[in-house]
Amino acid sequence: MVEWLTAGWRAKGMAHDLAENIAKVRERISAACRRAGRQPEDVKLIAISKTVPPEPIRQAYEAGLRDFGENRVQEAAAKRPALSDLTATWHLVGHLQSNKAKPARDLFHWIHSVDSLHLAERLDKVAACRGDRLPVLLEVNLGEEAAKSGVAQDEVSHLAEALSRLETLEVRGLMVIPPFLENPEQVRPYFRRLRELADEIAARNFPGVSMQELSMGMSHDFEVAIEEGATMVRIGTAIFGPRG
Ligand SMILES: *Cc1c(COP(=O)(O)O)cnc(C)c1O
Repeated sequence: MVEWLTAGWRAKGMAHDLAENIAKVRERISAACRRAGRQPEDVKLIAISKTVPPEPIRQAYEAGLRDFGENRVQEAAAKRPALSDLTATWHLVGHLQSNKAKPARDLFHWIHSVDSLHLAERLDKVAACRGDRLPVLLEVNLGEEAAKSGVAQDEVSHLAEALSRLETLEVRGLMVIPPFLENPEQVRPYFRRLRELADEIAARNFPGVSMQELSMGMSHDFEVAIEEGATMVRIGTAIFGPRG
């Protein structure tokens, strides 16, 4: 699967496009930061490489990116051997089933999608060493869409408190995937709400729980997310092009 895909990407002169796409995204991040009176260094660009084969991921790395995100454990496991020499930070941004906690913990440095105590307990239990602390974010379902993953907003604080008792996990903030709305301005209230929730939880001072990270904003709405306080933006299409 990977071979033919890689050939296709090469033929399109991907490396050049990638460097250009990344530069453009960085410029837009800087501009959004200027509007919000923030520093570009305070916003981590995570390249979402789902469906992207190893070769373009390597090219994005060579163009300077160090953070990559995947949404499926199995796909990440298949690609990672070809990229094991990169000093990259890998983020799991998609829904995680508790029965994949072990490979997820082995493959990823950050998990953005913790949405239940059961999942968190599994992640804690499979830690190779009790001294390891895995940074996690709590995924919040602000759209209250029944089909979507994420914890309801009135339960987030309770979940954060429960997780503060798990010694190998470290809650660092919140993540949201808002409903897709054509106009990014319509998404702004969701981003603002996530920041308010983080402030509310931070004020509770649960031991070992920090609310410094807000993982929000994708290709079509990351500028609004940055204006509302995003510290991690998850960008796929604007870097790698449309997914086939
Ligand atoms: C695919 C995905 C992204 C990136 O989406 P783009 O619109 O391609 O930038 C971000 N976050 C999550 C959770 C995703 O699954």
